Amino acid sequence: MLDIQSIREDFPILSHTVYGKPLIYFDNAATTQKPRCVVEKIESGYYNVNANIHRGVHFLSLEATEAHEEARRTVQQFLNARSANEIIFTRGTTESINLVASSFTDACMSAGDEVIVSVMEHHSNIVPWQIQAARKGITLKVIPMNARGELELDAYRALFSERTKLVAVTQVSNVLGTINPITEIVEEAHRRGVPVLVDGAQAVPHMRVDVQELDAEFYVFSGHKVYGPTGIGVLYGKEEWLDRLPPYQGGGEMIASVSFEKTTFGELPFKFEAGTPDYIGSTALAEALRYVSRLGMDEIAAYEGELLRYATERLGAIEGMRIFGQAAEKGAVLSFLVGHIHHYDMGMLLDRLGIAVRTGHHCAQPLMQAMGVEGTVRASFSFYNTKEEIDTFAEAVERVRKMF
Ligand code: PLP
Repeated sequence: MLDIQSIREDFPILSHTVYGKPLIYFDNAATTQKPRCVVEKIESGYYNVNANIHRGVHFLSLEATEAHEEARRTVQQFLNARSANEIIFTRGTTESINLVASSFTDACMSAGDEVIVSVMEHHSNIVPWQIQAARKGITLKVIPMNARGELELDAYRALFSERTKLVAVTQVSNVLGTINPITEIVEEAHRRGVPVLVDGAQAVPHMRVDVQELDAEFYVFSGHKVYGPTGIGVLYGKEEWLDRLPPYQGGGEMIASVSFEKTTFGELPFKFEAGTPDYIGSTALAEALRYVSRLGMDEIAAYEGELLRYATERLGAIEGMRIFGQAAEKGAVLSFLVGHIHHYDMGMLLDRLGIAVRTGHHCAQPLMQAMGVEGTVRASFSFYNTKEEIDTFAEAVERVRKMF
């Protein structure tokens, strides 16, 4: 069992007030708050071990290099990857997907080849493929969903053709909360010899992830959504696949040798980490992963599941409530609209009551089109949220409803 009150003390921002009201932070799918240990890691990194890494012979540089590589091993263990070479530090999910989209398309695709994505993808798993579509003439095929917000697996199977070169899907929807049957999705692709990229941005903060068990070729996530700093994220890739792909960016760190006649690229993981890496961010991300591991990913999933059940029950009782996403397997995200109240008005008024939610299309406009709405209000929960906060939230939503 998690001790929520003591956990909340690790997050100083949670005791803030906004407009004279205690802050209720329900925008965790956008970004999570940071525990003291992560902020202290950043501070102590700059105060005590700051030097550019990998190329230095001096003490500080060697220490900073070791800290960065130790962070890589922490990520490796967290994801249960086979080797630290399979962990590439990037700026986040978006950059990780752009990297794969660019390098995979260059190495493995030609005009007419196809990538399968789903209707519930975040823009960051749509637009990079569209950029490649414009460059190389590849096409996107889209897995539809049912009324509950679950992907249609029969339709998915029917999308494969001999031109299918990759499947790129999210593990958990940032709008609907749907936890997709990702193992089955990967197995279906593998049965046809097609590799898979999984967007784990909304999964890694909320559940145990084992990339060997999952067996996807690529897995990506962002540090800031898992209680780590902004500006750092991860691309996991099976070593044989990362070896096959060309570099994404050129520059320092990623080379073996450079002359004006010929440049040879470095080994993994450095081949994909051009320029000075965010070595302070990587160590702070590792600290965040240690923090959630101490709490226990299974305990986090169980508690957040309880919060979701409670919030669904409380909000479901409000007149005119429409909840988007009723999947049997669902993460702690609640998207809704009440009557004809515009999502933006609801968000603004909740804000005045101290409650931070997100409104709009949540970077998933194709999904909004599929649902026939312009936007929703989204409350997304973390292990530091409480049922008392949900009570206040439900009362606030009801109050706004009455105002209209
Ligand atoms: N994928 C999903 C499912 C997301 O929810 C998000 C962010 O909301 C992203 C990708 C993009 O993450 P980032 O902006 O950290 O790169």
